[in-house]
Amino acid sequence: MTSHSLGSLKIWFVTGSQHLYGPEAVGQVAEHAARIAAELGASLAVPVDIEVRPVQTEADSIRRVMLDANGDDTCLGVIAWMHTFSPAKMWIAGLNALQKPLLHLHTQFHRDLPWATIDMDFMNLNQSAHGDREFGYLETRLGLRRSTVVGHWQDPETHRRVGVWARAAIGRHTGAHLKLARFGDNMRDVAVTEGDKVEAQIRWGVSVNTYPVNELVDAVGEVTDADVDVLVGEYDDTYGMVPELRAGGEKRGSLREAARIELGLRGFLEAGGFDAFTDSFEDLGTLAQLPGIAVQRLMADGFGFGGEGDWKTACLVRVFKAMGEGLPGATSFMEDYTYHLDPFGPLILGAHMLEVCPSLSGAVPRCEIHPLSIGGKADPVRLVFTADPGPGLVAGLIDIGDRMRLVANVIDVVEPLEPLEVLPVAHATWAPAPNLATAAECWLLAGGPHHTALTTALTVEHVEILAEMVGVELVTIDAESSPRRLKQELLWNRAAWTLLG
Ligand code: MN
Repeated sequence: MTSHSLGSLKIWFVTGSQHLYGPEAVGQVAEHAARIAAELGASLAVPVDIEVRPVQTEADSIRRVMLDANGDDTCLGVIAWMHTFSPAKMWIAGLNALQKPLLHLHTQFHRDLPWATIDMDFMNLNQSAHGDREFGYLETRLGLRRSTVVGHWQDPETHRRVGVWARAAIGRHTGAHLKLARFGDNMRDVAVTEGDKVEAQIRWGVSVNTYPVNELVDAVGEVTDADVDVLVGEYDDTYGMVPELRAGGEKRGSLREAARIELGLRGFLEAGGFDAFTDSFEDLGTLAQLPGIAVQRLMADGFGFGGEGDWKTACLVRVFKAMGEGLPGATSFMEDYTYHLDPFGPLILGAHMLEVCPSLSGAVPRCEIHPLSIGGKADPVRLVFTADPGPGLVAGLIDIGDRMRLVANVIDVVEPLEPLEVLPVAHATWAPAPNLATAAECWLLAGGPHHTALTTALTVEHVEILAEMVGVELVTIDAESSPRRLKQELLWNRAAWTLLG
C-alpha cells in the first residue's frame, strides 16, 4: 500500500501581485500571504498543511511554480489569491501548465474597512476585490475547472470550504496513485460491474490489473501457524466470538483458516503496494472460504474493496476512505439489498454476502460463521454488526459507453426498526433523500449500480468537487430531486458531454 496517511501531503498557497507599487508593497503582500496560509493550514477544518510559495509577479516564475506543483508528488493542488492587482495575461502560461486542482480563494487581508484612516496606499495594497476579478476572468476564458471560495480568511466557513476542497484534492490524488489488484474477473454475465479500465486510468489515474488467484492461494499457503496463532488471538480479544469459533469450539479450524486467508491476502497486497482489491466467489481456486473477515478488516484498515470483481466500486471505496480520513463517520462497500416499503417510512436495508466494513459501527462486532449458499466453498467467517446512524451518502460509478458517470444519493443511516437477530451479515439501514420511491426512480433513470460506496464521513459537497477535479459526470440525488428534472439533466448532460468530452 502506498500510503494510508495524509502525512506529508500539502497544498501550495500562491499569491499574485505586481511590481507597480514597489518592493515594500510586495513585501507586505508576502507577509499577509504567509499569515493567511499559516492560519488556514493550522485550521482543524483543513486536513493538510498549506505551504506558502513566493509572491508571483512575473509570467516566467508563475509558469515555473505551476510546473513545480505538477512535479511535486506531495502537492495536492494550488490555492491562488490575488492580493493586489496581478495582470492576468501573466498567468496564462502557468494556468495552462497546471495539472493539479486549483482553488481560487477570494479573500482580503483586512476584514473591515478602516473607514477613518483609509488612504490611497491602503487602496493600492488591498485590491483583491478587483484583482481576483481579473483572475476569475482569465480562469473562465481558459475554461479551467476550479473551485472558487469567497470569504474572509478568518471566517470558519472559509476554513470549512477550503477543508472540503482539500479533501476532494486528497481523493483526486488517491485515485491518481491507486493500484488495484483483481483476483478473478467480474461475476459472469453481470453488466454494471464491467467497464473500461483504460478510460478509468485516463480520468482517475487508477491502475487496475488482474492477478491469478493461484498467486493468492500460494501467499495464503506460505502463512505460518505461529502467525495464525497471533492473529486468531487478536480476533479473540477484539470481537464477540460465537461459541463454535472459540478455542476448543467445533469450528475453530475455520477461524484459523480465515486468519490464514487474511494474512496471505494482506501480505500480497502490501508486497505489491496495492490500495484496493476485488475478489470473486466464482474464482477462488483452492481457497477454503470466500474471504469475509479478511476483507472486512482490510477495509477497516483503509483498503478499497469491491465484491464480484467490482473494481470501480473498490476504487471509489478507497478514494472515499482517503478523503474521509480523520473525520467522524466511515466508508464501506455496500449493496442495496432489500426494502422496507411501509408508506410511512420506507427504508433500504443494505448489506453484502459478507463484506461490509466494521468501521461503520462503534460497537464490538460479533464474529460468526454461517453457510454461504453460493460459491461451493466452506462456511466463511464474518463480522456481524449494525451500522451506526448518521447522515451520509451512497455513490456508484458506472461506464455508460462513452464516459463514466458517478451517481450519488444523499441518505440518512438509521437504526433498524427492530433488531435483526438472525441476519448473519453486517448491515446498514437507511432512508434515501428525498424519499425511497423518488430516490430509486432517479437512481434507476441515471443507471446507478447496485454496488456502492456508502460513506457517513463525506457530504455531497466533497463528491461534487471531486467529480469536477477528476472530470467525471456527477448525478446527485438529494432533497431537491425529481424524476422529471433528472430526465432533463440526463438529456442535457448527454449533449454536453458529447460536445465537450
Ligand atoms: Mn454484490
